[in-house]
Amino acid sequence: MAMRFCILGSGSSGNSALVVTEGSRILLDAGFSARRLGALIAAAGESIERIDAVFVTHEHGDHSSGIESLKKYPNLKFFANAATARAVQKELTWSPHWRIFATGSSFQYRDLVVESFAIPHDAEDPVGFRFTSGLDGDLFSPRRTLAWVTDLGHAPQSVRDRIRESDVVVVEANHCPRMLEADPRRSWTLKRRIGGRHGHLSNERMSELLSSVASPRWRRIYLAHLSRDCNSRDAVEHALAAVRLILSCEFSIVGHGEGTPFYELA
Ligand SMILES: [Zn+2]
Ligand SMILES: [Zn+2]
Repeated sequence: MAMRFCILGSGSSGNSALVVTEGSRILLDAGFSARRLGALIAAAGESIERIDAVFVTHEHGDHSSGIESLKKYPNLKFFANAATARAVQKELTWSPHWRIFATGSSFQYRDLVVESFAIPHDAEDPVGFRFTSGLDGDLFSPRRTLAWVTDLGHAPQSVRDRIRESDVVVVEANHCPRMLEADPRRSWTLKRRIGGRHGHLSNERMSELLSSVASPRWRRIYLAHLSRDCNSRDAVEHALAAVRLILSCEFSIVGHGEGTPFYELA
């Protein structure tokens, strides 16, 4: 079986995605309550009881707030680096089975090769992930890689290298700089933080990143973690125009609070 992937929800109100292979069922972040995750996973045709592990990118609530209520699934394993696990643990009334990895390391989890890499964001030790399953030349389970890169103020070379060698990439298109500038609800300080080098990737920076890497290996790119107030599908589409001219892969813009259907990395 090839790797299957869907985003359960994306945006500042919560982030989580589901990766399913022959031998593993994992969540990527848990920014929704266990009840909500259960409903979203069931809507995708899977069951929360069958999830093996949760991989946590960083401690911000929109990525980790569901961990407290996942207490009712005591067999779940939680993978994070030490600084993220420590920061999340501080907010919990229970102790999950933490599986600690070193940022930048690569390890095997069941039939997945998992790689973590540092990303520039205002959290303790935030990471992006790559998940690889399958084998080169295997007709039924070809080697496929998914990269997950949200919550980053800019994209250093190390991030560019990781996404280049991936089949499917989830990348942040957080805000339109003009909409952020004009937003009356956010303070000047917060705007500086969001738009800064350890904040969130703007549509323009996303477009520059994809255009400069422009990997022929890409099959599909998801634009995710859109701001509800400071972005729109139209604004993302506008920034994508330059990328579409040089890339023929599929693009999927994931609206604020939305999820996606399963995609099979066949
Ligand atoms: Zn964050
Ligand atoms: Zn976030």
